[in-house]
Amino acid sequence: MMFIRLNRRLSGIVSLSLALQRHTVNSRRMASDSVTRFDLIVIGGGSGGLAGARRAAELGASTAVIESHKLGGTCVNVGCVPKKVMWNAAVHAEYLHDHSDYGFEVGHLNFNWGTLKTKRDAYISRLNDIYRNNLDKAEIETIEGHASFTDDALPTVEVNGKKYTASHILIATGGRPTELSDDQIPGASLGITSDGFFQLETLPRRSVVVGAGYIAVEMAGILSALGSKTSLIIRQTGVLRTFDSLISANCTKEIENSGIDLWKNTQVKSVRRSAGGLEVTLTTKDPEKKSGGEEISTIEEVDCLLWAIGREPNTTGLHTSQMGIETDKMGHIVVDEFQNTSRPGIYALGDVCGKALLTPVAIAAGRKLAHRLFDGKADSKVDYSTIPTVVFAHPPIGTVGLTEEEAVTSRGKDNVKTYTTSFTPMYHSMTSRKSQCVMKLVCVGPEEKVVGLHMQGLGCDEMLQGFAVAVKMGATKADFDRTIAIHPTSSEEFVTMR
Ligand SMILES: Cc1cc2nc3c(=O)[nH]c(=O)nc-3n(C[C@H](O)[C@H](O)[C@H](O)COP(=O)(O)OP(=O)(O)OC[C@H]3O[C@@H](n4cnc5c(N)ncnc54)[C@H](O)[C@@H]3O)c2cc1C
Repeated sequence: MMFIRLNRRLSGIVSLSLALQRHTVNSRRMASDSVTRFDLIVIGGGSGGLAGARRAAELGASTAVIESHKLGGTCVNVGCVPKKVMWNAAVHAEYLHDHSDYGFEVGHLNFNWGTLKTKRDAYISRLNDIYRNNLDKAEIETIEGHASFTDDALPTVEVNGKKYTASHILIATGGRPTELSDDQIPGASLGITSDGFFQLETLPRRSVVVGAGYIAVEMAGILSALGSKTSLIIRQTGVLRTFDSLISANCTKEIENSGIDLWKNTQVKSVRRSAGGLEVTLTTKDPEKKSGGEEISTIEEVDCLLWAIGREPNTTGLHTSQMGIETDKMGHIVVDEFQNTSRPGIYALGDVCGKALLTPVAIAAGRKLAHRLFDGKADSKVDYSTIPTVVFAHPPIGTVGLTEEEAVTSRGKDNVKTYTTSFTPMYHSMTSRKSQCVMKLVCVGPEEKVVGLHMQGLGCDEMLQGFAVAVKMGATKADFDRTIAIHPTSSEEFVTMR
């Protein structure tokens, strides 16, 4: 049953009056057994949870958000937002190298990591406040603390000894970086993860980043561009192995060209602290040799060892199994296309489900679910196909749709046609620093429907969104060809490919 919300739309009323009204609403929600009831309880005040809660409240549902750390979740506090600030700084550093090539006479400039961190932290703090104000304005109750399901007959969660129940409970608890124990790799705990990266008070002089995924690529790029001597340790021969082969190969090459010391076929064997910093011992295996062929090396005086080796769902202490909520072998909550878990009335979305770990995906899922539960839109669900994504590498990567490999597997080699190009962007015609732009269109069928679009180069981060609309709408190669080019840009290459 929906609770009647009192004075929901009365904006502009003085805060004392609002507080009094909220008190009244809350007292009405108290059941006799001192379990507070809502229409919707959201566990996790991150991207997906906040979006779902706010939309549900807009639609008239009495809603509570439970958050154990900071509002905004991973994206705002230790993900997209601070990462993009650091990437912007790194791009700044790269452009400084090009200043003299464009005729600017600049002297030696110092970069102060501390100044940037203070400003970045203040910005994030402002965002945390904005999120809190938005919840208050929407009359959503914010409950601070860690939520766990209880063993009550009705689905109930407990936070700091108080119990809450709702007709609908949404789990949006996100994920956390994978950490290795010292039993797995001696000394592993001397390293940090992406969360720790955002706590660094100074620019490390010597960094070692471990991992081949997008977070490893982004963090290594930022550290290196800002002046840290950086090594990237990868287990195989290329980074971003789940991306289209053109992107994986080109990004690996760009990393090597940028001055990052890339260790292929290599794993960390052990870490120890010494007087000059950390000593990171590595094992490199020659893939050509079946047995033996291992080489041991040590990187010394490391002041930042960063593990970026994956992420895990945040379900610790939630007691999902006692609720009969199914999880996969990685611990991700299993949901159907409507975000239903195996327990009726309990839903999950975002990173905790382990699919398309991106902020806009979690936001879309939260909003769609709210419309299904509180707006009578029974078919409201996210379309998980053709999701565009950017990797803030150097230069940035944009990708949407199927890789060539996926298209060949699903449609057969004879039905797939690709168009590729590789060039030096005009910007670099004047600079001694160079980077390539590579692009690929993956088309299928006789009509050459564009099912995949992949690129790496200057400006590709901002180029992608518009092309993603075209791909989502089902554009064909002929539609691309019919579009007049914008000259001189890199993006014009997409409409002039032959
Ligand atoms: C370094 C990094 C860079 C990233 N960059 C990008 C990017 O550029 N673009 C992009 O789209 N995505 C990016 N992401 C991914 C993005 O941050 C996530 O996909 C997104 O935050 C997922 O949202 P969510 O709502 O599922 O979870 P989260 O945002 O993680 O929110 C979950 C919240 O639940 C809380 N919580 C957990 N358990 C409990 C509990 N039991 N009780 C109460 N509260 C609990 C947590 O404290 C957290 O605040 C990045 C991630 C990382 C780590």
